[in-house]
Amino acid sequence: MKLYNLKDPEQVVDFATAVRTGLGNNRGLFFPRSIPPLNNINELLNMPVLERNQHILRAFVSDNIDDQALQQIIEETFSFPAPLVQVEDHIHCLELFHGPTLAFKDFGARFMARCLQHFATEQKITILTATSGDTGAAVAHAFHGMDNIEVVILFPKGKISELQQKMFTTLSGNIRTVAIEGDFDDCQKLVKSCFDDPQLVQAVGLNSANSINVSRLFAQICYYFDGLAQLPAAQRDQTVVAVPSGNFGNLCAGIIAKTLGLPIKRFIASTNLNDTVPRYLQDGVWSPNNTVETLSNAMDVSRPNNWPRIEYLMTSGQFDRSLLTGLAVDEAKTADTLRHLFAQGYLSEPHAAVAYQGLHDSLQPDETGVFLGTAHPAKFKSAVEEILDTELDLPQAIADCARLPDLSVDMPADYAALRDLLMS
Ligand SMILES: *Cc1c(COP(=O)(O)O)cnc(C)c1O
Repeated sequence: MKLYNLKDPEQVVDFATAVRTGLGNNRGLFFPRSIPPLNNINELLNMPVLERNQHILRAFVSDNIDDQALQQIIEETFSFPAPLVQVEDHIHCLELFHGPTLAFKDFGARFMARCLQHFATEQKITILTATSGDTGAAVAHAFHGMDNIEVVILFPKGKISELQQKMFTTLSGNIRTVAIEGDFDDCQKLVKSCFDDPQLVQAVGLNSANSINVSRLFAQICYYFDGLAQLPAAQRDQTVVAVPSGNFGNLCAGIIAKTLGLPIKRFIASTNLNDTVPRYLQDGVWSPNNTVETLSNAMDVSRPNNWPRIEYLMTSGQFDRSLLTGLAVDEAKTADTLRHLFAQGYLSEPHAAVAYQGLHDSLQPDETGVFLGTAHPAKFKSAVEEILDTELDLPQAIADCARLPDLSVDMPADYAALRDLLMS
């Protein structure tokens, strides 16, 4: 399937080029012009998960990856489960946090890393990525130890939890981490400036592993199918999916799944106080406010970089705008929701709680709700412990990192400084 640049429709590339270059001309996002529906959805939903994923992804990557190679990439990427856990009558959590860094970003990052490795040529590649939390860990672990691929991760200094930080700042070798004096949007701006510098791009083989990379998005389509496959067949077409959103890659993947024919009834875009999209869906005006810090800090984004893809699916008539509603959840409500879930025997964390709230507010009696569990509660240990007045055990993966020294370096939000670091 060819991909084209949403800002420069003349630029049409294959999957390999889109994965290698990340962004197109004019900082445009690559995306399929149209997404052809799959015609055997029920059959797909009854298949073993790896076989199903092969059918879904083949359509997107077959120009560049043959079936045998794809099978191996899929086996290595989807090496952990995504269980659907019932939380209360009619409401389930699709738990996407059973991978190596305990967050859903493992799916996209692991798929992207293996695709890039498959396309690797002699030239060195530098992955430059900004993270507001979980991307950093997922990307660092996905690429750690790969030959010829250098990884540089920017994160807003002091704005993510210590444990979250330790999950990517403690790896050595080909992983370098930089604490930027600013917020996540500053980090994203720096990344964009680098991609606007053709000399730099060429010199270090610059590539981004942010959710703007279309390979990550494609991998994420698969778990929406997995989620519905775990529901009784009779409930599937009444399913409402609530997605805790920041950069809106996750929701975009869900909408692609629906465009492929997955019978999701409608979506809820749940955000924290960074509510650009819920306000936009309400009144049609796009007016980002300054980013504010919240309990669900991986969603502290006021200019979501995947939104143009969702907008495109709507304006091109492939996805019906009325099937998407937004909800912004404030801090007090997020904490209340966590307590409500805990009282019912379900230990969660702030991001998933924001999504759950979207279902709680709008689910109709004949509907089935699925909210996405994007991170393991222990990744937000101190916030969760304080709100629930309980103590959490650290999973082994986190406990191991927590003991290691932090190897990150500090840097002002300054392009020249970052350029020097990348060139060195
Ligand atoms: C990244 C992240 C999100 C937001 O996902 P987007 O695809 O950026 O909308 C939600 N929850 C957690 C835990 C995350 O790490």
